[in-house]
Amino acid sequence: MFVADYEGGKWLNPRIEPFGRFELSPANLALHYGQSIFEGMKATKRNGEPVLFRADMHARRLNISAERMCMPNLPEDLFMQALKMLVELDRDWIPEKDEHSLYIRPLMFAMDEYFGVHASEKYRFVIFTGPVGPYYPKPVKLWVEEVFTRAALGGAGEAKCAGNYGASLLPAQRAKKNGYDQVMWMDSVEKKYVQEVGTMNLFFVIDGKVITPATTGTILRGITRDSFVTLLKDWGYTVEDRLLSIAEIADAYWRGTLQECFGAGTAAVVSHVSDITWRDRKIELPPVDAQHRPVATRLKTYINNLRMGIEPDEYGWLQSCANSGVEQILAKSNVLTAATV
Ligand SMILES: *Cc1c(COP(=O)(O)O)cnc(C)c1O
Repeated sequence: MFVADYEGGKWLNPRIEPFGRFELSPANLALHYGQSIFEGMKATKRNGEPVLFRADMHARRLNISAERMCMPNLPEDLFMQALKMLVELDRDWIPEKDEHSLYIRPLMFAMDEYFGVHASEKYRFVIFTGPVGPYYPKPVKLWVEEVFTRAALGGAGEAKCAGNYGASLLPAQRAKKNGYDQVMWMDSVEKKYVQEVGTMNLFFVIDGKVITPATTGTILRGITRDSFVTLLKDWGYTVEDRLLSIAEIADAYWRGTLQECFGAGTAAVVSHVSDITWRDRKIELPPVDAQHRPVATRLKTYINNLRMGIEPDEYGWLQSCANSGVEQILAKSNVLTAATV
């Protein structure tokens, strides 16, 4: 894992060390007041060489989360270099099979030990990885949640922070007990506009047009979402990034114009939605196959093929880990413990 510490206004002692536990004080501020943010991304092998997908966007988003949570900026070049070195070092852990990848988890959390609410002055940044197999999620059943909300206007919904998840667990567990897989969040004011689901942004195909809820500050700005919008526009689709009410979706269903609904996120790339329950009404989507779900299928195939090297990198979305400098570290010492980057 990669570790760096922030103290006295500076990032210090960047190092790669064996994956292991940290010792934390019970007074650690992250545990009490929630200064903890993270990212989630994947590395794959393209023609035998490790590649990252839009890592620069993840570096930028970590800093957007940091700013909202009153945490220090992590220089983007430090993030990128650390990531490239670690992935290059871990290259044998990257599975070379279809839909397999090395999952990468960067995170930053407070390290001050203190009573009392204030922004920490010390932080730790960590990156660790783990190989993941194919994620073939079953089509998901969604529950339209009108009691609990995920994020309020002016809140921290746009930050990838730990607290957003903590608050989402109870509603998710209740939905599961009632037979649903995930919660479809509504806006916190009118409980009318569709937000997102668990760890994914949402897309709908209505009458041939692709609609995704606008990022109004309460929704995570997904990098998969951004990639999909770019691809769909270039493929000639009409893409609408706007407020979308649950009533409009139900209306499209009754008119017979609701064609697809899917979640977009790093983990599954695409998760098809089989049905949406809104109060006592069930909105059923067409069967999950390439013929009925052409938009979702094309997007998923494109991203997977791009990561595997079948599709050319037209958008410059891939980053190579070559020349990361990890060779010098390995040459200096064959012991990786606390090797200084
Ligand atoms: C991480 C995340 C997503 C997906 O973002 P990607 O960058 O596409 O992986 C969507 N919603 C929430 C709440 C998330 O935390």
